[in-house]
Amino acid sequence: MSIPYEHGVVVFARGEEVGASGGALSLPGLELFSQQLPADVAQLRGWVTGAPGRLLTAIVAGAWDFSLLVELRRLAPAVYVILWHADAVEDAHNRIRAFQSGARMVSHDHEHLREALALITSIRGAAAAAADAAAAGEAAAAAEAGLAAPGTVAQLSYACPWCGLSGLTGPELWLHQPLYHIYELDKTKVDCPMCRHHTSRLTRHINLRHNPAGPGADERTGVYALAVVRRPGDGKFLLVQERYGEGYWVPGGGVDPGESLVGGVVREAWEEAGARIKVTGILTLESSHRGSWRRIIFVAEPLPQPLPTAAAAAPSPSSASAAAAGGSAPDAALRRCKTLPDVESAGACWVTAAELEGLPLRCVSEPRTWIPWVADGGKVMALDPAAPELTKLFPDYPLM
Ligand SMILES: [Zn+2]
Ligand SMILES: [Zn+2]
Repeated sequence: MSIPYEHGVVVFARGEEVGASGGALSLPGLELFSQQLPADVAQLRGWVTGAPGRLLTAIVAGAWDFSLLVELRRLAPAVYVILWHADAVEDAHNRIRAFQSGARMVSHDHEHLREALALITSIRGAAAAAADAAAAGEAAAAAEAGLAAPGTVAQLSYACPWCGLSGLTGPELWLHQPLYHIYELDKTKVDCPMCRHHTSRLTRHINLRHNPAGPGADERTGVYALAVVRRPGDGKFLLVQERYGEGYWVPGGGVDPGESLVGGVVREAWEEAGARIKVTGILTLESSHRGSWRRIIFVAEPLPQPLPTAAAAAPSPSSASAAAAGGSAPDAALRRCKTLPDVESAGACWVTAAELEGLPLRCVSEPRTWIPWVADGGKVMALDPAAPELTKLFPDYPLM
């Protein structure tokens, strides 16, 4: 596997996470280049460029040094920086700090890491795609009894408006953009590099209009379903790390035409937070004065998820220490949530009600109203499809 350093990956991990042979970060088929990160940021360029064609791994002993992430991103803007952190989905503050310092992903999930590496290494550039097309053309031509080889197939290539990485095919830019840049500010009022269409929001435009599977529909129903998801055991709440650096928010979003209210929030919790949830009650029903939007806020709890094998074999230090301290470590199957960024979100995190005060929030009212409400055992309405308030506000949407 050969990766030019501009397309390279740096995994920041603490020493105990990575053994001599790659340790917990061993990945079949990938050559790991593990070494201590230079303490001096001035040596970083040589370190970054010193091993082209390899997956780079930095081992950071002791405390996280986020200034090194900042410097690395300055030196190599297109490098994919992953913070490998045992508390990736339990440490909301360091998730934010890592992304603000230039990390593209914060994870401790081997399956998500493998998926990220597969996506990153699938982005090979327009020149490689053109060479493949030419080779395929030659093979096809040879098969068709000696027709002349078609030569180089023209392949349009684009540069990423965020990091400047050039030579991407259209489908590669569509793939690259959210994976690398979903936590950065969106580009507004710009021309799309692919179709030259002037757009108010480039991320949304690329996702909807340049999806290789076909253009997506932009259906907004004005009906929204949100969920306050409380984890039994330690009582932590699930928050989505929202796009565009907007901080955290409760999972949820627009209910699609033909979808039920519960179906909508279950789908959104999966897309935005990577969590399977079970809705257990209703907190509130709301609508705008003019009726342009209506919404329902549910209370829910996580359902256990299948675990990646490496995580099951090696409990994280935090859960081990929690168990050693006599606390009830939350079941790993209930902890697992999203750490692979995509167009929906940068990931998700579990937080205590007390932690909410210090966290950046996309909108303050929903989390700060309903998370303390649920934490304090406030009143919850039953999931009754015939409840008059429900059928009055949503005569056109089934509850379940
Ligand atoms: Zn980019
Ligand atoms: Zn376009």
